[in-house]
Amino acid sequence: MAAEKPERGYVTIDDEECKGCGLCVESCVPKLLRLGDALNRSGYHAATYAGRGCTGCGLCFLVCPEPGAIRVYKRLQAA
Ligand code: SF4
Ligand code: SF4
Repeated sequence: MAAEKPERGYVTIDDEECKGCGLCVESCVPKLLRLGDALNRSGYHAATYAGRGCTGCGLCFLVCPEPGAIRVYKRLQAA
C-alpha cells in the first residue's frame, strides 16, 4: 500500500484570541475552517480547523484581524 502523502500545512487557533468574525472561514478555499459551537470566555464562537487538508496557503492568517488568533505552519519541501 502506498504511503500517505505528508500534509502540506496545518493551522492552530487560539480560542481565546479569536473573535469569531468568520473571515478565515470565508477565505479557506478547501473549506477546512468553521466557527465552533462553543463560546469562548469573551462570548465568541471561535474558529476551528478540520484537522487535515491544509495547503499552508496562509490566506486565513492574512485576513485575520486578531494578532495571534490563527497561525499557519507550512511544510518545507524536501531537498
Ligand atoms: S492556510 Fe489556507 S488551506 Fe490552510 S486553513 Fe488557512 S486558508 Fe485553509
Ligand atoms: S479571522 Fe481570526 S478572529 Fe476571525 S474567526 Fe478567524 S481566527 Fe477568529
